[in-house]
Amino acid sequence: MATINTNYRKLAAGYLFPEIARRAAAFQEQHPEETLFKLGIGNTTEPLTPTILEGLHAKVDALSNVDTYSGYGDEQGDTPLREALSRYYRDMGVNIAPDEFFVSDGAKADAGNLQSIFSLDTVIAVQDPAYPVYVDSNVVSGRSGGFNAEMGHYDGFVYMPGSAETNFFPAVPTGKVDLMYICSPNNPTGAVASHEQLAAYVEYARKHKAIIIYDAAYAEYISDPALPKTIYEIEGARECAIEINSFSKFAGFTGVRLGWTVVPKEVIAENSEPGEIHKMWNRRQVTFFNGASNIAQAGGVAVLSEQGLAESRALIAYYMENARIIRQGMQTVGLQVYGGDNAPYVWVKGPEGMTSWDLFDVFLTQCKVIVTPGSGFGPAGEGYVRLSAFGHRNNIKQAVESIVSNLKLNERN
Ligand SMILES: *Cc1c(COP(=O)(O)O)cnc(C)c1O
Repeated sequence: MATINTNYRKLAAGYLFPEIARRAAAFQEQHPEETLFKLGIGNTTEPLTPTILEGLHAKVDALSNVDTYSGYGDEQGDTPLREALSRYYRDMGVNIAPDEFFVSDGAKADAGNLQSIFSLDTVIAVQDPAYPVYVDSNVVSGRSGGFNAEMGHYDGFVYMPGSAETNFFPAVPTGKVDLMYICSPNNPTGAVASHEQLAAYVEYARKHKAIIIYDAAYAEYISDPALPKTIYEIEGARECAIEINSFSKFAGFTGVRLGWTVVPKEVIAENSEPGEIHKMWNRRQVTFFNGASNIAQAGGVAVLSEQGLAESRALIAYYMENARIIRQGMQTVGLQVYGGDNAPYVWVKGPEGMTSWDLFDVFLTQCKVIVTPGSGFGPAGEGYVRLSAFGHRNNIKQAVESIVSNLKLNERN
């Protein structure tokens, strides 16, 4: 008799994007003449750049020739890419050996899979609000109780809430936790942790033999040179931090699919030998994963070339100009605005008493703009919405103009 993993029934956060689509479709049906603008989606829109296309094309051509064809590569990733990643970190002042990188088909899978090398009684702490996969992967693995609708959270997890007062970065937990998920620059708030804030986490982790899973998928969006782009800028992080990152938002690889995870050999848990976690992640990957696409990896090497980096940073600057336009528009209508300066997300607070979904409905019905309710990213996101800077400039401008012309927060309908 087969039985299903009933933990899947606990997944509640999955209602977010289907519910957005449902409300947008219902509005569109009642107002077929209206065009809806989308500021809700965290997906890149601009084409790949020339140097990166060249890298991808060259690999496709190599695969067409019997002398240069290659099949399966190393599960951990191709050596040229791991060496290029090592140089990329060295340019940030950080030493990571090529064999400490594990190339993957994206950061989301790694963020979801990393929990599998820790015991089931691991106490999970998660930055709130945050990208849903950290919570959901641990729910499915059975580390939580049920979804507590009243609190907007899962019982059994420690939520580390950010607030405007702390620039949306949470204080370190007061009790004992084992595995802490942090995302900086943060999706959805756009907030970036400072050196001091990260150092407090590293200190906590070392003291309690806890581990930080650090999602740096938006690191390249940081323009303030005072802010850390990798957690390994913090002394001691090699003992306690696993970093995941991706070419998705870095170079428009959302569809190409390529990411990486850094597992330093020094990382230790309470009951592990030095080097054991590095070996376990290696074992996990060679057992369940057959390596990222070799075409995508050739593209990744091109991204990390001098010219590839320059082009990718120009692309990021394009999205960040969108973010500036969105920020400015929201300030014009008198909304409280956060983020959008070192991350492609603008985090907007509604007036007191309005929920995220109230605000979503106002943006939809008054302005024809789709945003993302902050409460879908955790209970501390309640009262906020996320506006995404991913989009064509024209669409972004039209959406912002529509908000500026039509938003009337005191006349809700
Ligand atoms: C988009 C995003 C990723 C990227 O995931 P991929 O699977 O590499 O496309 C990872 N983390 C966060 C927080 C993101 O927003």
